[in-house]
Amino acid sequence: MIYNFGPGPCILPNEVFKQASQAVIEFNPTGLSILEISHRSVEFEAVINETVILVKELLNVPEGYSVLFLQGGASMQFAMAPMNLLAEDKTAAYFDTGVWSSKAIQEAKIFGHVNIVASSKDKNYTFIPKDFTIPEDSVYFHCTSNNTIYGTEIMEFPKTSVPVVCDMSSDIFSRKINVADFALIYAGAQKNMGPAGVTLVIVKDEILGKIDRKIPSMLDYKVQIDGGSMYNTPPVFAIYVSMLNLIWLKSKGGVEEIERENKAKAEALYREIDRNPLFKGTCEIEDRSRMNVCFVMENPEMEKPFLKYTEDLGIIGLKGHRSVGGFRASMYNALPITSVHVLIDAMQDFELGLQKNRDK
Ligand SMILES: *Cc1c(COP(=O)(O)O)cnc(C)c1O
Repeated sequence: MIYNFGPGPCILPNEVFKQASQAVIEFNPTGLSILEISHRSVEFEAVINETVILVKELLNVPEGYSVLFLQGGASMQFAMAPMNLLAEDKTAAYFDTGVWSSKAIQEAKIFGHVNIVASSKDKNYTFIPKDFTIPEDSVYFHCTSNNTIYGTEIMEFPKTSVPVVCDMSSDIFSRKINVADFALIYAGAQKNMGPAGVTLVIVKDEILGKIDRKIPSMLDYKVQIDGGSMYNTPPVFAIYVSMLNLIWLKSKGGVEEIERENKAKAEALYREIDRNPLFKGTCEIEDRSRMNVCFVMENPEMEKPFLKYTEDLGIIGLKGHRSVGGFRASMYNALPITSVHVLIDAMQDFELGLQKNRDK
């Protein structure tokens, strides 16, 4: 058995892998492979429509929003959002809670003024700032809902009348959100929705068309909306596999049910981190992410042996990002709670093993 705690591309349910591989051989009822069908075919039309419907259903997307499947990853959205929304002489408010936020800030500065309203950088992004104000005249407020690298998550989004733009790459579909609170949501699929190669965008139609910058067609949300995400050839296979994964999620009981499971998984692992004297969490407890659990060892010299110990048990992807060190257990939707228990058992056995050595 392999227990994949990797930060992304994410694990997907086994049945999704099976269905996807079957479709590579023969995509019913065409007799063709999913890799060779026309993106303009009736069959693919049905796939993309179904995927839009699933996104709307699972996230309760209200009227007045468009759902897009684009390319270029979340990283392209760092530029595409300000390119479409932020005029050169206007200011957008940015929330600096990690590497991905700061990359978004860097890109926005190309297009207009950026006001960093709060940052946790001086504490290596180990918490989510709470006390700050978003100036009323900001064009939008940009935030990152889950900080994949540092293991913090925004549990309560700031209340503001300013339109909110949110990078939800690593916690989309993991918990309930109120889409109406956001003007623009984007997410690279490969953290919790599907394979790499497609990026989900949910955009409130009324925020578009308000600036007169010339925008290249591919980067223009309006052009992409008018083209039904098919201004050019979309990532057919990535969209198809995302659809399979969303069907799986729906059959499990949707976002509400998966949120319950994600909470249970995170609670179990954090409980062990807090109990086990060998380990400690790296973030403020109230801001701890349910998707990416970051922790280190009290004795850093034990980290290599522990990593080796877990790898021998088939636990992989646990090495922390270089900017935090230690470990990061990414527990996306498809990770079963049984995998979390394997990791917890490993932490306990490692502790007992050390105990025994000491007692000898
Ligand atoms: C991984 C990640 C990104 C980058 O995504 P790409 O699709 O690789 O561009 C951006 N934001 C967050 C929160 C991420 O976790």
